[in-house]
Amino acid sequence: MNDFPAVRDDVRSDVPDIRPSAVVEEQPPLPQQLVELHGWGRAAGSMSHLASIDSVAGAVSALRQGSGRGVTPRGLGRSYGDAAQNAGGTTLDLTHLNKILAVDVAAEPATVTVQAGVSLDTLMKALLPFGLWVPVLPGTRQVTIGGAIAADVHGKNHHTQGSFGNHVRSLDLLTADGAVRTLDRPGGGSWEGLDDDGRLFWATIGGMGLTGAIVEAVVELQRVETAYFTVDTDRCSDIDDLMARMSEGDEDYNYSVAWFDAVTRGKHMGRAVLTRGDKAKLSQLEPKQRRDPLKFVAPSFGTIPEVFPNRMVNKLTAKAFSEFWYRKAPQHRVGELQNITQFFHPLDIVAEWNRVYGPNGFLQYQFAVPFDAPETFKRCFEMIVTSGHLSCLNVLKRFGPGNLSPLSFPMPGWTLTVDLPIEAGLDKLCDALDEEVVGAGGRVYLAKDSRLTAGRFRQMYPRLDDFLSVRNRVDPQHLFSSDLARRLEL
Ligand SMILES: Cc1cc2nc3c(=O)[nH]c(=O)nc-3n(C[C@H](O)[C@H](O)[C@H](O)COP(=O)(O)OP(=O)(O)OC[C@H]3O[C@@H](n4cnc5c(N)ncnc54)[C@H](O)[C@@H]3O)c2cc1C
Repeated sequence: MNDFPAVRDDVRSDVPDIRPSAVVEEQPPLPQQLVELHGWGRAAGSMSHLASIDSVAGAVSALRQGSGRGVTPRGLGRSYGDAAQNAGGTTLDLTHLNKILAVDVAAEPATVTVQAGVSLDTLMKALLPFGLWVPVLPGTRQVTIGGAIAADVHGKNHHTQGSFGNHVRSLDLLTADGAVRTLDRPGGGSWEGLDDDGRLFWATIGGMGLTGAIVEAVVELQRVETAYFTVDTDRCSDIDDLMARMSEGDEDYNYSVAWFDAVTRGKHMGRAVLTRGDKAKLSQLEPKQRRDPLKFVAPSFGTIPEVFPNRMVNKLTAKAFSEFWYRKAPQHRVGELQNITQFFHPLDIVAEWNRVYGPNGFLQYQFAVPFDAPETFKRCFEMIVTSGHLSCLNVLKRFGPGNLSPLSFPMPGWTLTVDLPIEAGLDKLCDALDEEVVGAGGRVYLAKDSRLTAGRFRQMYPRLDDFLSVRNRVDPQHLFSSDLARRLEL
């Protein structure tokens, strides 16, 4: 394994020997602060004791100190709802477990060994100079490795690369008994064929922090020649046009995503901008870009202040934004070179952009339905557009096959995401959408959710019992819990 020069010094000095089922010695009690925590949607916050964890031993102490309300691992708090908070209990802030431990550049595929609190932003900046690339990226780089694994996050390339968990070679999990287990990704394609550790591995992927705290992981990487992407853009006139183009053409691209207009009704309902692309090769760059092909362009235009009222997103602003966003895209453009921020993370340019929704916050509703239910998908779409609830940041993707994780969200089918300001009547709309989604055999994404009922959740995740059998074995007292877990009666 090659050393990783920039960040490797003394990396293990504060990490106890991590072996399968090693029992870690505790540290003295950690100071904890009573704070209000919420998700990225800034709604449904709760008070808990926040313990800042910078070593595995510290995490073990926090487990022991945990009250009857248990403990919840937390990364950068980019899940939208109540997954990373724990009313009246302890929340473990794992962002200080932030060391990149080693990179094996020579291996095929190359791998990186990281502590769970390292953000994708930090990791990408460290890996790009080596021509290495994180294979699955969500719509923000401000998520931790632990959060990416626990939610089994997906990117624009799910149809070609699957979700984040598919690329985790192994992970170290601190379980409720105070032991750290190293879990390797098992071979084999069926749940029934897995042994206990194999099941614990896959239950932890997408397990929303309820099997234990991930403290370290080995992630498989891809290689890139440049930090640029060649992007084709098409404007689509309505939802049928969009779905037809995606169905016909997505397989020709590694990355595909559409922004759609969720305000305009009538014959242009569902008009959209479809962007699809691939990693750019060195030979495709402009001469100027070729001088520093792996340069990470990540501009920052400051932080959105806390000054916005609740109704900034109203009919007027939503209409104006949607018109502008649609019109600014070209009708048809091929082979444009875009940098990482342009192609993947335009929202990361401004920090705390969620403040524009005002103090009431917002809800992100993301659902998936199977490919054989396009009519349900379109009906849900129409229900949103005609509901009077307004959303500007709207994303539509096609998922490929899911993985062995019982609670992973992606399933082969269509997925749609809308950001809806919290206001009267929203619960009714979401309940009606849930009903449609369940009826089609689909589901809602837990990393975005703050309102699903336990009953609906059970209907949406038919492999829940597989998950529960693992969790009940490793954590019979449910020491690892969260607001989300209690709401969903997990
Ligand atoms: C702008 C934006 C765009 C997004 N785009 C996408 C997208 O395209 N695709 C997608 O899939 N998601 C997307 N997300 C959601 C985000 O990727 C996930 O919610 C992710 O889990 C957040 O990581 P985090 O470090 O902030 O974790 P948190 O939000 O702090 O925690 C999320 C969950 O992970 C658990 N957890 C965190 N750390 C650990 C750990 N070390 N061990 C065990 N459990 C842990 C928590 O208990 C919680 O259940 C987006 C979010 C934002 C804000």
